[in-house]
Amino acid sequence: GGGIEFSNVTFGYSPEKVVLRNVSFTVPAGKTVAIVGPSGAGKSTIMRLLFRFYDVQTGAIMIDGQNIKLVQQQSLRKAIGVVPQDTVLFNNTIFYNIEYAKLGASDDAVYDAARAADIHERILSFPDKYETKVGERGLRLSGGEKQRVAIARTLLKAPIIVLLDEATSALDTHTERNIQAALARVCANRTTIVVAHRLSTVIHADEILVLQQGSIAERGRHEELVLRE
Ligand code: ADP
Ligand code: ADP
Repeated sequence: GGGIEFSNVTFGYSPEKVVLRNVSFTVPAGKTVAIVGPSGAGKSTIMRLLFRFYDVQTGAIMIDGQNIKLVQQQSLRKAIGVVPQDTVLFNNTIFYNIEYAKLGASDDAVYDAARAADIHERILSFPDKYETKVGERGLRLSGGEKQRVAIARTLLKAPIIVLLDEATSALDTHTERNIQAALARVCANRTTIVVAHRLSTVIHADEILVLQQGSIAERGRHEELVLRE
């Protein structure tokens, strides 16, 4: 599962100021969509709507064909994992930070040992550091490694959809691409991914939506959009 459909979604935080205008897109289950656009375009708003922090005023949002207005918020929050840009890790070992994911997971999820091993191998490529404390002085845990911990922790909760809200934007392009590639391999045809990003450096998306002032101005694969520029 994890297919997403936005159908003519219009939304404003107040009636005077519309933030999303007639936004429609479909993400098949297990595919990746990137929402790209300048600050203020409405990317985070799309994510908040998916999570039902707010309800849409016009249009509908469906997950696996069901209007999310009819889904309990608690089930929605188990089904959707979020990786923010500024991850807060516990001031404890990396191992602890990952084990913590089990608390938020659905009962049958985390104990898929093969899945967990795949996540560890591809996302957490530094097992020698597992026992190191995150906040320890002198610990050389890079920004990229921190985000890998955050991504692994989210994936281990076995959500059907993962939202990355500028999760790799603060990293250098090389690190960012490595993380995106690892994520694409682990999630391909299994977990739906929604990436919000200011720049179109996202190369692993099945579709890119260019959002401008709350409307989708362009859409296509990375190579199609680059060619048109
Ligand atoms: P992006 O993620 O693309 O930077 P946002 O979705 O955060 O854009 O914001 C889109 C617009 O909605 C902006 O004009 C922003 O000022 C406004 N906005 C965001 N959050 C709120 C809020 N909680 N209340 C009122 N306006 C908001
Ligand atoms: P959910 O089960 O809805 O995902 P969690 O309780 O797992 O919510 O918390 C979500 C995220 O918030 C965690 O992954 C963690 O990064 C952060 N978090 C929660 N509680 C704390 C805390 N006491 N200290 C630091 N970070 C925390």
